[in-house]
Formats: sequence, structure tokens, C-alpha cells
Amino acid sequence: MTTIGVLALQGAFIEHEQMLQRLGVAVRRVTLPRHLDGLDGLIIPGGESTAIGKLMVEWRLLEPLRAFGRSGGAMYGSCAGAIVRARDVGREQPLLGLMDLRVARNAFGRQIESFQAQLQVPVLGERPFPGVFIRAPKILAVGPGVEALCTLDDGSVVAAQQGHLLAVSFHAELTDDTRLHEYFLGLAGWRSPAGAAHAHATA
Ligand code: GLN
Repeated sequence: MTTIGVLALQGAFIEHEQMLQRLGVAVRRVTLPRHLDGLDGLIIPGGESTAIGKLMVEWRLLEPLRAFGRSGGAMYGSCAGAIVRARDVGREQPLLGLMDLRVARNAFGRQIESFQAQLQVPVLGERPFPGVFIRAPKILAVGPGVEALCTLDDGSVVAAQQGHLLAVSFHAELTDDTRLHEYFLGLAGWRSPAGAAHAHATA
């Protein structure tokens, strides 16, 4: 059975767990390096990237998480979880540096300027995806091995994929739309069971 870890140091990890449970995969909370053993994939949730990074250092997770990503473990980071996997965020803070991304934090403004937008994400099909942006980052530049999955009119990228690694600026876990999680689970080797009750949700 596919088992997905959710890094539970800080931020919106419960919402990701609920989404995964709804899709019928086994979920494990990750707070210690040994919790990574045998996982098919890992989600790093949104929250506050400085806090998550500091806790990764304090809880000795930085190297184990890097090793997990480098050895082929699928990873999905939303918002702060995308930021901590970038190689450059324009300031000093602990980063995993697993993805060849240059990111600007809080690029859409403050908390009060949070918004929702209907996004075109071609790998998820034609139906627009509801993007919830909360003090979200923009991906300003992607390296040659990275594919932009969703680009805004201003040219900034809000979803990107580098092999089995996914970075997303918005919060799919706060919607009813399971398509992005299903896409990630595909990268982690999961095949949706025929007839499962997760049929594409309305959103
Ligand atoms: N602004 C936060 C940061 O820079 C990210 C916000 C979020 O994860 N919703 O870390």
C-alpha cells in the first residue's frame, strides 16, 4: 500500500492528511528522521518557511530530507513547503535546495491580500483549478530540469515539477479538488483504485 508522509513541524499538515485519507492512501506524520523510512512520498505543508526551516535544523531533519528527495522519494511542497525546497529565496534561511527554483516569498502581498483564482494547470485537465493563495510565493525562475505546470499572466510560475518533486504556491489542500494530490500520488507510484470514492470533487 502506498504510504505518504506529511511533515508535521508547523503549518497546515492536518488538511493534507485529510485529503490523503480521503483518497485512501496510508498517511504517516513525520517529525523524526526515522519516520521517513519506507515512505513512497512526502508532503511539506504550507505555513511559515523560516519556522519550518529552523525546526528542520533543530530536529536534525535537514540531511535526511535531502537524502529522501535525492534518492527518488516523491515530494510535494505547498507554499512554505515549496519555499524550503528551493535553492534560492534571496535571503538567508535554512533550505533543502532540492529544486532548481528561484523564489520570491510573500510575492502577492500580505495576509490580507490573500485571494482565490481559477488556474489553468494543463496536467490536471481542462477544468480550472481553484488556487488559494495565502501570503504566497512566486517562482521567479526555474532551472533547465524543471517544468512549469502553471504560469500566471505576469510570467511568474505558481506550480513546477522537477522529476518526482512538485512545488506549488497555492493551497490545494484547502479546497475540495483532489486532482493535484492525485497527480502527486501518481509521482509516488500510486494508481487510483478502480471505482474508488475519490471521483473528482467539485470545487
Ligand atoms: N509567507 C509564508 C513564507 O514565506 C508562506 C505562506 C504559506 O505557506 N501560506 O514562508
